[in-house]
Amino acid sequence: MHPSYSPCTLCPRHCGTDRLGGKPGYCGETAALRIAAASIHRGEEPPITGSGGSGTIFISGCNLGCRFCQNYQISREGMGKALSLAAFAGLCLVLQQRGAENINLVTGSHAVPALAVGIAQARSRGLSIPVLWNSSAYELPETLALMESMLDIYLPDLKTLDPALGGRFLNAPDYPERAEKAILWMLNTRPLRFNGAQRLVSGVIIRHLVLPGYLESTKEVLRWFAEKARGRALLSVMMQYTPVRPAPPPRGSPRQGGLDRYVHTQEYEQVLAWLDAFAITEGFYQELVPDAGWLPDFSRAQPFSSELAQPVWHWQAGYGTRADP
Ligand code: SF4
Repeated sequence: MHPSYSPCTLCPRHCGTDRLGGKPGYCGETAALRIAAASIHRGEEPPITGSGGSGTIFISGCNLGCRFCQNYQISREGMGKALSLAAFAGLCLVLQQRGAENINLVTGSHAVPALAVGIAQARSRGLSIPVLWNSSAYELPETLALMESMLDIYLPDLKTLDPALGGRFLNAPDYPERAEKAILWMLNTRPLRFNGAQRLVSGVIIRHLVLPGYLESTKEVLRWFAEKARGRALLSVMMQYTPVRPAPPPRGSPRQGGLDRYVHTQEYEQVLAWLDAFAITEGFYQELVPDAGWLPDFSRAQPFSSELAQPVWHWQAGYGTRADP
């Protein structure tokens, strides 16, 4: 039986909500596809940013409950606008016309059936660039299979392999087992392949955000990558952890302390030493830049700092070009 919207079994929460009947699930979303913003993003990893930038489309809602979510305005505060699937396909085509190297679907695990139809429509109307799945990895292979033929590149997080941290910070103690299974499925589905210009056209980039004070979790992720994914994927180690403003606790998540600072220099150096120790050379790591410049604000027509992204569509401003206040 295929996973479906009603009762919803699309993701590991299996919360059984009647989304086609208009009820929002744990992810906050009904069966309507809602989008918060689209932009040409130049801050993604080099083989997906290229010279044209990545065509990011931010999908509203989320099936995780990360207490440190930098996109909390759209993941759990509801910012976004419902788009018809034809309008979504049109948005993909506009991004392609503006020079995007790929379509980068951000956090769409709870919206797979709609996205599959939307991408199919875009393909039939001339979309020819690769489509990239940018997810938390808290998802099910059987759901991903619904749009496998439409996806070229996977960009999953591997946030932690520690069930205690999964429960405390993601509101998902089963995150490690679910994410590992989903990522292994992705690795088996898409081998790494580059074109002549060193752009990734197929494959998997596994992202890991270093959490300040929880370096043992990072060490386990690096060990996992060395043992299970080396040679089959790229690793992207992210040092941009930024404490968000007094974060509203995700639905149902326990209140816990910590995570209220940037990554320290000593922690950064320790992570680099572990990359050497595990002989991980295929991938990227960020410089340590402890400031809040990474934080998007989706209430603005330009949610990102201007060096990083050029806005194309916004849930309130549409394709308008009005300047932000
Ligand atoms: S996708 Fe949303 S509604 Fe469906 S099972 Fe997951 S959290 Fe529940």
